[in-house]
Order: sequence, then C-alpha cells, then structure tokens
Amino acid sequence: MGKPTGFIEFGRELPTKRSVEERRLDYKEIARCMDCGIPFCHNGCPLGNIIPEFNDAVYEGNWEYAYQILSSTNNFPEFTGRICPAPCEASCVLGINKPPVAIEFIEKSIIETAYEKGYIQPNIPSKRTGKKVAIIGSGPAGLAAAAQLNKAGHEVTVFERADSIGGLLRYGIPDFKLEKWVVQRRVELMEKEGVVFRTNAHVGVNVHVEELIHSFDAILLAVGSTEPRAITIPGWNEYLGKGVHPAMEFLSQQNKRVSSIERLKDHRGDDYTNGEIWATNKHVVVIGGGDTGSDCVGTSNRHQAQSVTQVEVMSVPKYDDKSQPFYKVRDESTPWPNWPLTKRTSTSHEEGCHRFWSIAVQEFVGDGQKLTHLRIADIVGERTLEDGRKSPMIENERLVPCDLALIAAGFVHPQQGLIEAFGLDTDSRKNIRATAAEYQTSKEKIFAAGDCRRGQSLVVWAISEGREAARKIDQFLMGESLLEAKEVGMFHPEFAHA
Ligand SMILES: Cc1cc2nc3c(=O)[nH]c(=O)nc-3n(C[C@H](O)[C@H](O)[C@H](O)COP(=O)(O)OP(=O)(O)OC[C@H]3O[C@@H](n4cnc5c(N)ncnc54)[C@H](O)[C@@H]3O)c2cc1C
Repeated sequence: MGKPTGFIEFGRELPTKRSVEERRLDYKEIARCMDCGIPFCHNGCPLGNIIPEFNDAVYEGNWEYAYQILSSTNNFPEFTGRICPAPCEASCVLGINKPPVAIEFIEKSIIETAYEKGYIQPNIPSKRTGKKVAIIGSGPAGLAAAAQLNKAGHEVTVFERADSIGGLLRYGIPDFKLEKWVVQRRVELMEKEGVVFRTNAHVGVNVHVEELIHSFDAILLAVGSTEPRAITIPGWNEYLGKGVHPAMEFLSQQNKRVSSIERLKDHRGDDYTNGEIWATNKHVVVIGGGDTGSDCVGTSNRHQAQSVTQVEVMSVPKYDDKSQPFYKVRDESTPWPNWPLTKRTSTSHEEGCHRFWSIAVQEFVGDGQKLTHLRIADIVGERTLEDGRKSPMIENERLVPCDLALIAAGFVHPQQGLIEAFGLDTDSRKNIRATAAEYQTSKEKIFAAGDCRRGQSLVVWAISEGREAARKIDQFLMGESLLEAKEVGMFHPEFAHA
C-alpha cells in the first residue's frame, strides 16, 4: 500500500503550482491517498475507476501497472483526466474535512506517461468473430463502445455526420479545455486497432437506415442530445440568427476555426448555418449558468468582446467553491460523499465575466434588423397560480445592452428524425427508451447509449454507457461476453493485454 501517513504529511497540490516534470520526480500527491478501508472514490466515479489501486501503483513507481489498472475501467483517461468534474474527488474520504486527493490530475499523469513511454500500442484483436456492428455517432459513448466491441473481435464501423470524429469532444468543448490533438491521437490509435470511421456519413440522410439494418448484426445509436432548449419569449422569432444564437452554433464554429488554423485549411464560415458568429467588440450576454455557458464566456473573452455577462434563472448557491471549498463546508442538501452543490468558478469565469443569478430574461429587444438589448428582471420569489403551477415573482425590470445573446439553457432531447426512422420508442422526455441494465431499444439488435438515452450528461457517463452497451451487444451477438463488467469492479491484468 501507499505511504500510510501521506495524507497527514502532504497537502493537495495541483499542476498550476508545480510542473508535470517536477511532480514526476516525487509522489507527494499520490502518497496522500490513505488507501481507506472502504474507499468511496471509485463509487463516486461513474466508470468505477479503481482509484486506490492505481494510486498505489504510482506510489510504487510502477506507471505501467497503474496504466493497466486505469485502462481496465476507462478507455479514455486522457479525456476524463482533463475535463471531468471529478465526482471521485468529491467522494474521497480525505475530502470529508481536508482537500481531497487530486485524483483527476493523477489520472492525467498516468495516461500521458503511458503514451510517452510507449505503453500504449495498437491492441489488434487476434481473432475476428465475423460479426458486424454499426455505431451511429462518434462522441465519447460511440467511441467507448467502438473500442470495446473491436477488442471483443467484432468488425466495427462508426458513422459520423460531422467532418471529424469526436462528437462534443471535437465540436463542442472548446480547445482551451481539451485540445483536439488529444482526440485525434486516440482516433488514430483506434483506426490502427481496426475500427472503421466514416465521416460526413449522416444516417437517415446520406446513409439509409434500411441499409444499416440489412448489413449489420447490431446497431448502436450514440447520437447525443443535441436539441437545444429554446427561450421562446417575445423577440425570439424576430432575432434568432440576428444576434440571438444557440450556444452550440457559436462554440462549434470556434472549434472549427481553431482546427482550420491548425490544418491550414480555410473554413471562413462557408458551412455555418447562420453565417459567422463573432463576439468581438460586442456586449455579450450568455443565458444559462452551466458548463456550456461557461465555455461561451471563455470563447467570448478570446474574441475580445466589449463586455461578457452570464445570467442564470436559479438562485445563487449558498457556498462558493473558492472561498468555502467543499471540504470546509457543505450544503446540507449534498452531504459527503455526494457531489456538492456550490457556486463554481471556472477558468473562463476567472478570465473576466459579470455573473448574475435569479434573473428572468423577458424579451429580446432590437431595432428591427438586429438585437440591441435584453429586457431582464430580478426573481424575488414565487407564487402559486390558480391552476397550481408556480410562477416567479419579479421586480426591477430593466433593459441591458446586448448585441449577442448566447442561449446555453441546456438540451432537451436527441433529434427525433432518426429515432422515428428506426421506429424506436422514446421515454417521457423524448430520449431513446432503453433500460440502463440492457441498453436494448424497443427493436431487436438496436441499442442506445450516452446522452441520447440518459439525457444531457457528462463525458465520464457517456464512456461508461458506451462500455456497458458494448458488453450487452457482445452478449447479444455471442451469447456471453468477456468484456469487463462495471458492477464486478475487478481488475483483470490479463484482459488489459488482450
Ligand atoms: C459546450 C459543452 C461543454 C461540455 N463540457 C463538458 C465537460 O467539461 N466535461 C464533461 O464531462 N462533459 C461536458 N459536456 C457534456 C459532454 O460533452 C456530453 O455529455 C458527451 O459528449 C455526450 O456524449 P455522447 O457520445 O452521448 O454524444 P455526443 O458527444 O453529443 O456525440 C454524438 C455524435 O452523434 C453524431 N450524430 C448525431 N446524429 C447523427 C446521425 N444521424 N448520423 C451520424 N452521426 C450523428 C453527432 O454529430 C455527434 O458527433 C459538455 C457539453 C457541451 C455541449
């Protein structure tokens, strides 16, 4: 086991304070892992990552073994090690009253060391089963399923409507959170392992549903939850595309721009539905206080907006993660080991942004041609209407300057066209109906995983769903599966090499 008194001797340290090179020369952070009798960190992780064991392997200096343990539960630690909100850290036992172990950074260090030292080589299956699987969508759910099914020996083809592989990893999450070479490195590895990727392949449009049903033994839908929530207040119809834009139009354009610069290709907006969207010199208001909104803030600042404001309809959380981190004080609604409810300050917020909570956006106001203002008000309480519904009580109505309103109010469900084309049942929220136990939709041989099944979520959940769905597909095709099962939570070193 690791250093038993490490958690007493060392504080939590992150790379902003110490470089990776320096960290690799000692084991301070890893040594803080207490190797608890009953660890909660791996329960907090949707992948069931076997955290105390890989921490211990790093403490012993055995990075290769640490990599084997980590990759036995997580296909893509290079993504989660960079952008996961790290629910594992929130459930770390040390985090009850001290800064938790920096698990996410340890994960990133393990995977980057593994790439650097050549522990990661294409893992080509020695035998092929002759079964063919089509995966629709190349986000983290589709990619994780593809990696697992290929490992099991099936012939996997991934169909992606965009011009590059990665889903929101590629055309949603900004480069300043996840640089795209990280995604490309993994895609190239998977290609070498035998996964076939077909880009610009829009199933239901230029790839026929019947053709897939006819040609493949199983099909996995991993198409994400991409229908944005509209804010249908006065002015919405008039100014949509004229100053009012869904966040994803803005963010995906910028990702394309960055990759164009890198590939020295000229995108210049020719494939942007509503033309190019720039925040430069504009008063930007981001509507929605979540991750997508925060990414819009960071991107607007990089565009050199004149001002950036983020408004949120919910009230401000009681605790602030900067001044009162969760190991010091927790909201009573989210006691340890739950994910704590706090006011989070992202790196984008640190770069400059006015933030307001309990705000009702009431109207998009413009000059007839383009957006110029927002009408907003403070929410001061709520009242119950005659029919029992709740309605916010507002005051201090005012106009605020706004030339660019970015709608980051979440995603309601997957696009329905493909679901209808396959004739699949949906749940009450219009997600694809498939149980978390089986991932099987209402049609035989068609499965669903990721945001299109569970609703808008996290990369770590998408990977988890892709892995679990792959095991169910493997069982469906072969009658049994040797792919790792999450509920077993065991590390099989022989399988890591399979
Ligand atoms: C702006 C933004 C920032 C985020 N930041 C984070 C973060 O920091 N950390 C985190 O953990 N999570 C984050 N998330 C959430 C995370 O990205 C998603 O939960 C995750 O990507 C879902 O994975 P998925 O594979 O289910 O779907 P997606 O990643 O959405 O991939 C679905 C893919 O299916 C393709 N597709 C759809 N229909 C078809 C079709 N008919 N034919 C072919 N292809 C099709 C789409 O083009 C897309 O590439 C963020 C989300 C957004 C929007």
